[in-house]
Amino acid sequence: MNKTIMFKSNLALGVCAFVTFIAACTKNDDATTVDPAASTTTITEVVKANYKSMVTVSTSGNTITLKSEGVPDHVTPYWGVGNALYEAQKSDGALTPGSLRSQNFVMTLTATPTEATTKEATSLGPIGMALNGVAIYNDREGGNVPVDAAVLQTMDRGGAHSGPGGLYHYHFDGDFTSKDDAKLIGFLRDGFPIYGRKDMDGSYPSNLDTNGGHTAATADFPNGVYHYHSSAMNYLNSGYYILKAGSYHGTKGTFTF
Ligand SMILES: [Zn+2]
Ligand SMILES: [Zn+2]
Repeated sequence: MNKTIMFKSNLALGVCAFVTFIAACTKNDDATTVDPAASTTTITEVVKANYKSMVTVSTSGNTITLKSEGVPDHVTPYWGVGNALYEAQKSDGALTPGSLRSQNFVMTLTATPTEATTKEATSLGPIGMALNGVAIYNDREGGNVPVDAAVLQTMDRGGAHSGPGGLYHYHFDGDFTSKDDAKLIGFLRDGFPIYGRKDMDGSYPSNLDTNGGHTAATADFPNGVYHYHSSAMNYLNSGYYILKAGSYHGTKGTFTF
């Protein structure tokens, strides 16, 4: 039984007990009937339950605000030699200049995302935030050109690299977010969640729209939600899989840093 329903039932029982001395308590028929609306998990609940401790979550009205320093909670060569979380880059790889640096990320998203009438293309820079506070980028690099073979060399095993200002960001799924599974990766600025390549039944979704998403059940939203998936296409045969390309399904919130 759904937690929300149980809570409602218990609340009803409590109220019944309180008013028993005034009137006979009528049986609450609703308690045994699953109400789809009442049992729907909210975006706010899933955000609060899944973002890690290094991300501060606050809500105001219909807006959720996520704050983080934007640094990974895992090993990467981009920490720089000497850091406890430093590891060497892959043997055939290269690195962008400089080490990653702490940021001042503030991302806002709506708690009740809906499909936008006109879809806005994602752009360079942060388009979302992973559960550990690291920025999610699309499939583009400076000059708005798709990540190419040379840039691929700079990706670590998290599918990330560091950009200007030491801003570390994920372009691909990888060892620390999701890898060929149905894990929740984070949320994009439009308030919709992004998952790994698979749905929770272990299959690859076959009905994704042009923006890489669809409406279906997930482990976090058993009654269904619009969500993006990491691409199931092996990008340029690199072994990396793009997190998100194309447009937002909804309307993006702000992301300052
Ligand atoms: Zn990049
Ligand atoms: Zn799905």
